[in-house]
Amino acid sequence: MSKKTVSDIDPSTLAGRTALVRADLNVPVENGRITDDQRIRASIPTLRLLTEAGARVILLSHLGRPKGAPDPAFSLAPVAAHLEKLLGHPVRFVPVSVGPEVDAAAAELRDGDVALLENTRFMAGDTKNDPDLAASWAALANLFVNDAFGTAHRAHASTSGLAEAVEARGGEAVAGLLMARELRFLGDALDHPEHPFVAILGGAKISGKIEVIDALLPRVDRLLVGGAMANTFFKALGLETGASLVEDDRIEVARETLERAGERLLLPVDCVVAAEIADGAQTKVVQRSHVGKGDRIGDIGSATRDVFAREIADARTVVWNGPMGVFEVDAFAGGTVAVAQAVASACDGGATAVVGGGDSAAAARRAGVTERITHISTGGGASLEFLAGDALPGVVALTEKS
Ligand code: ADP
Ligand code: MG
Repeated sequence: MSKKTVSDIDPSTLAGRTALVRADLNVPVENGRITDDQRIRASIPTLRLLTEAGARVILLSHLGRPKGAPDPAFSLAPVAAHLEKLLGHPVRFVPVSVGPEVDAAAAELRDGDVALLENTRFMAGDTKNDPDLAASWAALANLFVNDAFGTAHRAHASTSGLAEAVEARGGEAVAGLLMARELRFLGDALDHPEHPFVAILGGAKISGKIEVIDALLPRVDRLLVGGAMANTFFKALGLETGASLVEDDRIEVARETLERAGERLLLPVDCVVAAEIADGAQTKVVQRSHVGKGDRIGDIGSATRDVFAREIADARTVVWNGPMGVFEVDAFAGGTVAVAQAVASACDGGATAVVGGGDSAAAARRAGVTERITHISTGGGASLEFLAGDALPGVVALTEKS
């Protein structure tokens, strides 16, 4: 990666220096309680590095989708309290994100202190990438650390806008440790994969992922396709898909993709079907050529699980995005869990595996294999756009490594 990271900065120069850090602290909060603190935990290494070096940290993040105005339901106050516990260090919460209160808090910071500003999206200018808003944050420090990989695919004032504003004032904008890790694992998988390179794609739709297929096809040795995405390919082959989820307007694209991919693309050979995709549904496994008119395909079948597991076992590099079935419903979770276990076993054997996508990360957690997988991306949409080969504005705006 050619972008400068926080590890490229001599730690001895950080003492007494103010650093603006944009993290992705967008965690689910229910009645003031954080129900999943993964994203807060993921931001800790960068904060530790900075505070232990004696930097004064002003932390920025969004939470949820407030409508460009303050809304207590989306306050970062509970996050400040939780972060304080995880860091084992006081975190001062500032109930606004710009203005005199922020300036005062910044002036009072001592070496190693952390102040968390209120939700950046309480300001309408954040998602509009308002240069004035970016400039008011940039006035606080000459060092900007962007660790928010999850929003790197958006050009917002608190991400790319702030990076540009800090650089315009002669400062530097660097990647945080999490951001650097995401870029390294996703980037290496695409650019320097060890072969065999196996990609696994699934999920609900082809439409959001056609670019990912296009970007991966020339690089991979095998592309395993499951999930509802496979149904559209089935239809392109002229197979009966019953009442399954199919994107009729993508059948032509699916047909072209099959032609281009040739033997590299593996579709399921059998499926788990039911009349309804629901808890307690009466399921059966059928050959893909035996899907009935009233059937809904909810998962890959047992023969497919074996085929996919063998391919994954041989792989040295694996990229996985999208569950193999409706894994949220127990009766249709087996295929996804089997693939998650196969990926984890490959990693145990020394393969590198990267998992992208919010639901895929949740599926890996559900399968209990999170710890064994090389890298599970914290950025759903951002990881997909990266895998599709798109430039991420939050990354593009960072300072080049000299
Ligand atoms: P990710 O978030 O990992 O990128 P997606 O959002 O693309 O994954 O897809 C996840 C969704 O796809 C899940 O909600 C899952 O229920 C759904 N899905 C997978 N297989 C099927 C299927 N056969 N029929 C309907 N929905 C499916
Ligand atoms: Mg999803």
